[in-house]
Amino acid sequence: MSGFSTVQPDPSMIGRVTKPPFAILPQPGPLFRRRAERFRVLAEGSDLGPYLTFLAGICEAQAALAESLPPIEPIAEEQVARAIEHKMPPLDRGALPLSPALRETVWAYLDAVTPLPMPAPASAALDALRQADDAALTELLTHVTADSVPFEALPQHLFLSAATQIHAARLASTLPAEKLEPIETGTCPCCGGPPVASLVTGMQGAEGARYAACAFCGTHWNEVRIKCLACGTTKGVGYKSAETTEATVKAETCDTCRSWVKILYQDKNPAFEAVADDVASLGLDILMQQTEYRRAGFDPFLIGY
Ligand SMILES: [Zn+2]
Ligand SMILES: [Zn+2]
Repeated sequence: MSGFSTVQPDPSMIGRVTKPPFAILPQPGPLFRRRAERFRVLAEGSDLGPYLTFLAGICEAQAALAESLPPIEPIAEEQVARAIEHKMPPLDRGALPLSPALRETVWAYLDAVTPLPMPAPASAALDALRQADDAALTELLTHVTADSVPFEALPQHLFLSAATQIHAARLASTLPAEKLEPIETGTCPCCGGPPVASLVTGMQGAEGARYAACAFCGTHWNEVRIKCLACGTTKGVGYKSAETTEATVKAETCDTCRSWVKILYQDKNPAFEAVADDVASLGLDILMQQTEYRRAGFDPFLIGY
């Protein structure tokens, strides 16, 4: 029976708690590919079917471009070190509207989405973008990088957001994940943006940990499980959902700042993808519009609803 004697706890494992990684950087190709696939699945049988199918095409074009563009020039090491030292995001959104590399991605992306079936307003917006002069494009990109959406240019904003996401995810993927540090609660440690939603992960080694997801650069970062991602308080945090039974998508509400952000229980449904499932769970947004709380998550694909 000597075999049993070997079944002893390994002393080196006692007391060891695996710490979930703080930042998970995007892999641009797989990120957009997975999002596109999820949109396709969600489109089946959804009231939002045509829109989700359109977004699947938008993300497929993102994936194809992310996989075919030549390697991007990484963010300079000194800039990264300086930003981290000063608790600033190393990916400087403010510099993007004038970046020649982003422009190239924008032009290539507009070409890539031209064959997609789309409603007339979207097609007209695409034409307008192709004819936009440099100053007009800079202005639109300034709105995109600031998450401010001009109501009169919603479809233009969607196309440019999608193109900018490719560029931002490619830049974020060059950062040293292990060196990134928290900036503020609810703030992307790569680009300084707000989360689209957060996910309770079932990822091995991090089961039950919560990650906030950035729609702009595709980074996921670890946050305390019960905490307002808008103001950082842990007091007066509650949960609301559209279903009465066990819900896998909830609104995390805050009685301090009266805002809410979606939380997706990916440990219960591994198929969840932050951006796609945010759009597809529009029903929760409609429910929350009838409450006193305002949405704090930002998703450029959900603007206009
Ligand atoms: Zn980000
Ligand atoms: Zn709050």
